[in-house]
Order: sequence, then structure tokens, then C-alpha cells
Amino acid sequence: QSTLYEKLDDKNKQLLDGITNESRVYLSRLITLIESSREDHQAQARLIISILLQRSREFELKHDYQPKSFRIGVSGPPGAGKSTFIEAFGTYLTNTLNKKVAVLAIDPSSVRTGGSVLGDKTRMVELSKDPKAYVRPSSTRGTLGGITKSTSDTIVLCEAAGYEIIIVETVGVGQSEVAVEEMVDIFMLLVPPANGDELQGLKKGIVELSDIVVVNKADGELLPRARFTVAEYMSAFKMQRPKTEFWKPKVLSCSSLTKDNIDQVWKTMNEFKDTMTKSGELRYKRSEQKQTWMWRYIEEELMNRLHNNKNVADLIPVIEAQVKDGNISPSLASSTIIEKFLKS
Ligand code: GDP
Repeated sequence: QSTLYEKLDDKNKQLLDGITNESRVYLSRLITLIESSREDHQAQARLIISILLQRSREFELKHDYQPKSFRIGVSGPPGAGKSTFIEAFGTYLTNTLNKKVAVLAIDPSSVRTGGSVLGDKTRMVELSKDPKAYVRPSSTRGTLGGITKSTSDTIVLCEAAGYEIIIVETVGVGQSEVAVEEMVDIFMLLVPPANGDELQGLKKGIVELSDIVVVNKADGELLPRARFTVAEYMSAFKMQRPKTEFWKPKVLSCSSLTKDNIDQVWKTMNEFKDTMTKSGELRYKRSEQKQTWMWRYIEEELMNRLHNNKNVADLIPVIEAQVKDGNISPSLASSTIIEKFLKS
């Protein structure tokens, strides 16, 4: 650890020392550093995250492998009530349970359009003002890969800053939920009450990723439909192989408006955390996740280098045209580009 630490700039040493004192200002500065595209910033960021991972490991060794933070992924279609839920759930955690909570958002829409589904509204007003909470709006720059990559590092920073519960939110419309599932301990799908027709299109892929499904808006006139939706998701899970032998996915309902059952959602998540920690499965899952992220980084870095390589730049449009015309096969095209890249 000390050798990595010595490679840091004085300014970053100070930030790193500060973050362990749970300073929000230092946390924000470090997040800015890891989101920076400057190569020198990236090099420092890599060291910082490594040092913090080492510190987390030391913490876990001392505390019987209890992780320092619990990471919750929340996904669901637009309008399901994600921000209302996170506001109610987060406030329950900070006020009633006296926990420190961080909320990070991944917004796939911002990548495509530059605008955002998550960010345009004023979201989580109460939680944003809560001294025990840290709400980080989604970054709107870069690729989805870039945004998710910095989010997985931001989780490590938040953990170091003493946030015990880290919520990562994303809209369940694309690839981002897979990336989120790979960086959290528990993946939750939040859905609105639905009727039979709407459930026909129940997205299999995202259900398979889920450890817990919560049917929101179980209040007033929507209550019967919420009950129906719970039953439908329960039967969907019955037909599916569980992600782990240690946990059968649970389906609950709640109301983020009346706050009914918000405590039950937490109770179930906590059950998951206990079961997965005691069995050693959580530790295993996290180490697998880190390996997955290593490969994600490699893929992204290689693609960046390929696209920025001047020798290949002229060749790419030529080869692309040949592939489109059916002159050469996609596989031959790919190997031609890669050969040229490796030789340059
Ligand atoms: P998001 O797009 O998933 O973040 O959804 P929002 O949190 O913005 O909520 C979408 C709409 O659903 C808003 O009008 C909320 O007031 C409403 N809503 C959210 N939670 C509940 C709930 O528990 N019950 C009811 N009746 N409405 C809710």
C-alpha cells in the first residue's frame, strides 16, 4: 500500500487522507478526478482506487468479512417511481436507521441524446438536503461504458467516505442494468402495478437479473392490481433458475407515497445481505465482479486505442465499405484491421 501511496501527488494524498475522515468535499473532488478524461488524472485515479480497495480488504479481514458497505442496484421503467422510492427508502435509512446513504445514477439516455430521463426533473429533493445522504446526479458526458466505469469507482470512493448503503439507480431500458448488476450486491427491479396485457411483455432479461422485485404504488385504487402483479412476478420466478443457490428472489409490494412496506423492503434486503455474507457468497460475488470489471476496462481501453490509432484511421473506412459491399467477410475485415493495429 505505501508504495502505491508514494506515487500520488501531494494534493491527491491530501484528498485520500481526507476522504477517510468522511469529508463530502473531498469525496466530490475525488469523483471529479476519476471522471476526468486526462491521462494523468486517470493514472492517479487508478492508484487511489487500488489503495482504497486494499483498505476495504483490511477492514473486512478485521470484521469477520462484513463488507464496509451494502450496494443496492435499483432499476425499473420510466415512471415506475424510482426517484420517489429512493427518496422514501433513503430517508427511512437515514432517519429511522441512522445510516449514511449515497445515491448514484446511471442514465443511459444521456449517452444517446445528451439529455436525460433521470436528470431533467428535480429529483430526491429531501434526500439531497439530508446531511446523512450524498446524492450524485448522473454524469452526462461520455459513453455508457465510460459512465458505468466511473460509477463502479465512485462506489469505492463512497464506501471509503463512510457511506454504509450505496444505491445505484438506472432506467431499465437498455444495457445499463446489466452493468449495474455487475457492480452491486443486490439488484432490485421496481415496477408499477400492471394488468395482464401489460405483463405479457414482462422483460425476461431484467427479471433474471433481479434478486428482489418490488411492485410500487400499492396504494388506493392501484392496490388490487399491485397484488395481481406481485403474484405474476412470483410465478415468473418459479419457472426460472435462481441466480444463486443461497437466495430465492423475493417479490414484495410497497407504496413510496404512503411509505407502506418500505421497512419490509429493507428487511428483505437485509436478509439477503446476512445470508449472502454468512455463506461467503457475497465475498465471492464481489471478487468475481472485480474480475469482470478488469475485462470491461481492457475491452474499453483497447477499443479506445484502436479508434485513436492514426495508422488504422485511414484503413477503417475503406474496410468498412468493402464489408458493406460484400467484397470481404466481416471476419476478414476485422482481422485485417486488427493486424494493422498490432503492427503499428
Ligand atoms: P421514475 O421515473 O421511475 O423515477 O418515477 P417517479 O419517481 O418520477 O414517479 C413517477 C410518478 O409516479 C410520479 O407522478 C409519482 O408521484 C408517482 N408515484 C411514485 N411512487 C408512487 C406510489 O407509491 N404511489 C402512487 N400512487 N404514485 C407514485
